[in-house]
This record gives sequence, structure tokens and C-alpha cells, in this order.
Amino acid sequence: MTSAPESPVDPPLALLAELTHRCPLRCPYCSNPLALAGRSTELTTEVWLDVFAQAGRLGILQVHLSGGEPAARRDLEALVAGARSAGLYTNLITSGLLLDRARLERLRQAGLDHVQLSVQDSEPCGADRIAGFQGAHERKLAIAADIRAVGLPLTLNVVVHRHNIARVPELIDLALALDAARLEVAHAQYYGWGLANRAALLPTRAQLEAATAIVTQARERLKGRLAIDYVPPDYYARRPKACMGGWGRRFVAVAPDGAILPCHAARTIPGLEFPDVRQTSLADAWQHAAAFTHFRGTGWMREPCRSCNRREIDWGGCRCQALALAGAADVVDPACSLSPLHETLVAVAEGESASPPPAFRYRSLSEGPKIA
Ligand code: SF4
Ligand code: SF4
Repeated sequence: MTSAPESPVDPPLALLAELTHRCPLRCPYCSNPLALAGRSTELTTEVWLDVFAQAGRLGILQVHLSGGEPAARRDLEALVAGARSAGLYTNLITSGLLLDRARLERLRQAGLDHVQLSVQDSEPCGADRIAGFQGAHERKLAIAADIRAVGLPLTLNVVVHRHNIARVPELIDLALALDAARLEVAHAQYYGWGLANRAALLPTRAQLEAATAIVTQARERLKGRLAIDYVPPDYYARRPKACMGGWGRRFVAVAPDGAILPCHAARTIPGLEFPDVRQTSLADAWQHAAAFTHFRGTGWMREPCRSCNRREIDWGGCRCQALALAGAADVVDPACSLSPLHETLVAVAEGESASPPPAFRYRSLSEGPKIA
């Protein structure tokens, strides 16, 4: 692929540091790629510390320590300390399963600012079935209490889909009971394992509308007590989301094996080459790498995006979704009603969500193609 003309751009706001793809859970909605990176490919502590130092110098404000399960890294405390001393606000996105109170205390002392803990449902059986891990829910409840006991602020993350969407009210109650300051209710996004499990996960339009109404009411009722973020699903939308705030505009991701990416799903796009953080600086990649410049801005757009007055609002939607659903990354996201494929997408969503759900294809390091 050729790159678009370059002009200097502002630094990213946030670094998504995917420390590992290892995870004790097997969520079928996981947005990690099917080709998971094996442990032997993971960056060393020293390389990550250098990445965080670069991020600080570049003007990045925050790092999201993510995965997989970032606590699978034994050096997580050192990585938190390094990120903090680079001036980054540190947010840990975790399943909680590999944490305990002592480790949380060490992480807090290392400079951890905030924890986002995922739960899969409000009731244990459903939660453990989604996680593919017996007893996961109970352990998460204990970890949530430990997070608050060591004085860390807590956001509860819940991915909703047809198997738990009816329990949004109970999930809101759970966030309150766990003393979370924030609840993120995010509809499953259909990338990676989520796309492979789409037919098992998509809710009906009626389920979506009911959940949206409940969240809207709860936001009003709980103002000042619990902030609720809501990420709607693309498949029933009329306009797409500004994926990652626009390609190469706000976020840079570093994959477990060192690839520097505009978003964690970008590797699905053929023809793009992603720099390795051991060979290319974050600053250089951000400003100059074709992986970032190619879809940055509006120069790459075709109609209907090219002449649309929303082109600098949603930036044409998601490139990875366009590729997955339309077969090309440089066309309008089919989530947009102006896409010629939009009605097909809606028909797929309505058809799949009305049919009995197929069995889950659980996320697994050994099942998918692997980055060895
Ligand atoms: S979505 Fe589930 S399987 Fe994927 S990284 Fe998070 S906890 Fe692990
Ligand atoms: S046509 Fe393109 S720019 Fe316009 S709303 Fe749809 S996706 Fe956004």
C-alpha cells in the first residue's frame, strides 16, 4: 500500500499496551485477534520500559495496560512503576483472576492509578459460562473488594450480548454494590473472536432498545453516584462510531510481540506493514509509518464518505469492520446506512439474533492460528 501525503500530527492521547495475549479466561467475545501471540514472542521488561519512556517524551498522557490478562506478566509491578515515572496515568484493564490484595497493594505502591475490572454477568453461572472458567465470578467479586480496600478507584467493565443483556439492571446494582465509580456497558464488538462468535452473541433489536432505555434512565437516576459509559452496537446503528477516535488520531497500540498498531484489530488488514517497536520509535511510527498515515484523515476516502459532512466526525467508521464485512478496508463502514451493504448487515443481525444461538467458539491460544 502507498502512504497518504504527510503533515505533522498531534501526539496520541493514549497508549494501549497489550502486554500479553495470555489469559486464564476464554471469553467468546474477546476482541483479541484469532492469531494470538505466544509467550515466547512477548517483549521483555526492558523494551516495555523504553516504550513507556518514549510515550512520555512523545506527549502521551495515559497508558492502558491490557492484554490478554496483563497480570499474567510477572513484571507488571515494574512496568507500572516505569510507566508512572515516564509521567503516564496508569490504567490496568484486568479480568482480576491473577490478582490478590497483596499484589494490588504492590501495584498501588508502584504508582497504579486506576483499575478496570471485567465481569461477565451479574449471576455466577452465566458469568462463568461466558468466561469459560468455573468460579471466575466469585473470585472477581473478591478482587473488586480488594481493589477498593487498597484505595484504588474501580471501573466495572461489562460486555453485553444476548446471553446477559436482560440483566443490565442487575449489573448496574452490582456496580453500586462493589463501590465502583464508573460502569462501562459495552455491546460486544465483532472483531477477532467476537466476529467468530457473532451469531452466538448478537442481541435482537428489541433487546438492544430495552437495554439502552434502562441505561439512559439509570444515568439520570445515579448522577453523582455512578457514571455509566455506554458503547452501542454497530449492527443496528445508522451511523458508525469514530473508531479509535479516527485512525491514527488519538491512540497507538503496541501488541505483545512489539508491533505498533493504530488499533488492536488492524493486523487483519492485508498490505499494511506494522513497524516493530524494537526497530522503530513510537514517534517515527506515529508520524511516518504507512500503517498510520494510510487511513489517517480523509484523503483515502471514496464516496459516499468523501463528500459527506460527517467525514471528520466519524472518519468513515471502522476500517477493520469494512474489511471484515465488505471485503475492503478503504470503503464506507457497512454500519453506516449510506453503505450499499448496510441493509444486508441489518438483515444478518436480525436473522442471527432471532435464531437459536450456536455453541461458543471459546478463545484459545492453542486453537487459532498463532504468532509463534
Ligand atoms: S475478553 Fe476475556 S478472554 Fe479476552 S482478554 Fe479479556 S478476560 Fe481474557
Ligand atoms: S458516509 Fe462515511 S463519513 Fe458519512 S456518515 Fe457514513 S461513514 Fe460517516
